[in-house]
Amino acid sequence: MKGMGAMTCQEWLKAAEQRLNLEGSTTPRLDAEVLLAHVLQVERIRLHMYPERLLSAEEMQQVSRLVERRLHQEPVAYIIESQEFMGFDFHVNPAVLIPRPETELLVEQVVCWLNRKASDKTTGEQLRAKDNDTMITCSLRGADIGTGSGCIAVSLAKLVPEIMMLAVDLSPAALEVAAENIRRHQLTHRVTPLGGDLLAPVASYLENRALPQCGHDGGGSLDFIVSNPPYINEKDMEALSPSVAAFEPETALAGGADGLDYYRRLAAESPRLLCPGGLLALEIGYDQGSAVVRFLEEQGFMEVKCLPDLAGIDRVVMG
Ligand code: GLN
Repeated sequence: MKGMGAMTCQEWLKAAEQRLNLEGSTTPRLDAEVLLAHVLQVERIRLHMYPERLLSAEEMQQVSRLVERRLHQEPVAYIIESQEFMGFDFHVNPAVLIPRPETELLVEQVVCWLNRKASDKTTGEQLRAKDNDTMITCSLRGADIGTGSGCIAVSLAKLVPEIMMLAVDLSPAALEVAAENIRRHQLTHRVTPLGGDLLAPVASYLENRALPQCGHDGGGSLDFIVSNPPYINEKDMEALSPSVAAFEPETALAGGADGLDYYRRLAAESPRLLCPGGLLALEIGYDQGSAVVRFLEEQGFMEVKCLPDLAGIDRVVMG
């Protein structure tokens, strides 16, 4: 016999879904499942395998507190301090932007480029892998500018073993989150968090380490630079949804009056750090494709292309 007020997972999920739906969550069922799975410390699929499992009073109390936070528009990722990206799990908190599925297109495109490049390059730095003590050869160097949670740098390094990355952010609190994710994914030997403004810390890091330049004609020593910079313009900043505006860091979102400030700077400052044939790959906002393509072409980038995401919206510019 169930005690008074006791509920099964299934019953609780139904009630929570209804409540979240009434308060305007666009994903009420998913939110309820993720929060309950978090409290029970199980994978979401388990909730469906044991729908009749009874929730204890303590579990009900804990999960109700999380639902209250969601009802106040707090994003689920901040509540459970975790977000999945490229199939990997990332620690997040309000110091960083929550990794978005759209950004996976940028990572996928850069992975393709890196795999092609890695097969051309045979020499590189010898590094000892942390996880299994074997020696690995890192032949490609890159930087992720405005790394936030580190989701781009970490995913690239997980997916392409031949790369070393600098993960740069201006915010010390964001950099702590990135460092935590680099440790979590055992990549401290290949991904280095670096504090500072855009490309400035990369330039001084490379100078101090006196890395060999790979340019024949004055190029720098990076094979690639990737960034998902803040790109929302002033007008759109006013129209952000409440859960973004009230909880996500403004500095990770606002890209100046026209949203293009960081692209201008990245396009202008990247060439001197990149090897000839190096790559600059950027995530962009829905209406920024032609402007960002122009910035890159004006700075001498070649083969500049703009790629749409699955929704058909311009999302990535590469050159
Ligand atoms: N690079 C991080 C991401 O893509 C953070 C981006 C940002 O803060 N603008 O999620």
